Amino acid sequence: METIERLESEVRTYCRTFPTVFTRARGVWLEDDQGKRYLDFFAGAGALNYGHNHPVLKQALLEYLTDDGVVHSLDMATGAKIRFLEAFERRVLRPRDLSYKVMFPGPTGTNAVEAALKLARKVTGRTTVVSFTNAFHGMTLGSLAVTGNATKRRAAGVPLTNVVRAPFDGYLGADTDSIAYLESLFADGSSGVDAPAAFLLETVQAEGGVNVARTPWLRALADLARRLGALLVVDDIQVGCGRTGGFFSFEEAGITPDIVCLSKSLSGYGLPLAITLLRRELDAWQPGEHNGTFRGHNPAFVTAAAALEHFWSDATLTRAVEERSAAARERLTRLAGPCNAEVRGRGLILGLACADPSLARRISTHAFAQGLIIETAGADDHVVKLLTPLTIQPDELAEGLDRLERAVGLALDESPGDRQSRRRLQAVAS
Ligand SMILES: *Cc1c(COP(=O)(O)O)cnc(C)c1O
Repeated sequence: METIERLESEVRTYCRTFPTVFTRARGVWLEDDQGKRYLDFFAGAGALNYGHNHPVLKQALLEYLTDDGVVHSLDMATGAKIRFLEAFERRVLRPRDLSYKVMFPGPTGTNAVEAALKLARKVTGRTTVVSFTNAFHGMTLGSLAVTGNATKRRAAGVPLTNVVRAPFDGYLGADTDSIAYLESLFADGSSGVDAPAAFLLETVQAEGGVNVARTPWLRALADLARRLGALLVVDDIQVGCGRTGGFFSFEEAGITPDIVCLSKSLSGYGLPLAITLLRRELDAWQPGEHNGTFRGHNPAFVTAAAALEHFWSDATLTRAVEERSAAARERLTRLAGPCNAEVRGRGLILGLACADPSLARRISTHAFAQGLIIETAGADDHVVKLLTPLTIQPDELAEGLDRLERAVGLALDESPGDRQSRRRLQAVAS
């Protein structure tokens, strides 16, 4: 830790939130250099949907490396890339009747978003993109412009332009139809808002506090985009790859975005890999018009293909997500009363949104001491965000929720006003 403090920039974050030195990891478990074991309910912010070091993926990776498989290749054709594309077609695109083309924009999520923004502007000839309150899309300038968080945007140091912010579903209260508001803006030739190149959204805003867009809202937005000749872009970087049950988070709503961004759990192993999916007709790129050195990392292709074949050949994982989700939601609902909180989420992205933001932060801190890694999200870090690997077993989930409940008890103990809630929690627990 002393080395980290001496040498690593002040910009570091998670090593402050979870101040220990991690050395090993397997499945849902992380271990530190003192031998203490932690249940990982953070899962690399959604980059570890299949847990740490999954044995099937590890085997595929080891074999590829042992065999001197190509590791770096820019975007040359490699066997690993072809096997990934074929697996993606077989396990993701074809069963869903989707005919996207796949673009490799660079290794991280923000690269996928930048490519989507660039392409949407290029094919529509329009400059403005509509993004939503509390959105999170990454840290490079284009992605930052469509992100909500003021601190992060201020760090850009330059004006972030060509974006119009619209209220996300529920932002103005559950009963206010924010699509109707957008409809009237775009119908009015003197509203000051021109038709955009694209609407960019997360179907469940993850960093933004686990805000779930409802199906009718998503459908109405897709419909509005079509009528305006604007593209619908879904950033499925955190809540795709099975997080909400189906492979894509938008499947349940029955919408088909024009462009989809995927990254985080795509490689399945925590290796960097991002793709931008585009409707075939939108493929207006000139060769090399958007490029980069690390577009398609072969070891990530290998683990991604293995993950698609292993987890997405049937509905086992989707069913497991639904079952674990129901179990976790039930336990969170019991904690909600004593915490003066609301339970949110879909699948295995669940949030305990506390009226008192300091309570959420204290719960996360106590959870860490109890051997549970869990983060907060939202404008005021007021939402305890449960993001377990999708492969978590029922007993591990129960153990983690026991630890969370203990952390809630300790957090409530800390302030006199909360002690009454603590007694209610004891009543609930017994
Ligand atoms: C994490 C994330 C990004 C950015 O991905 P990076 O790999 O950190 O660049 C973009 N959008 C969403 C929804 C994310 O969760």
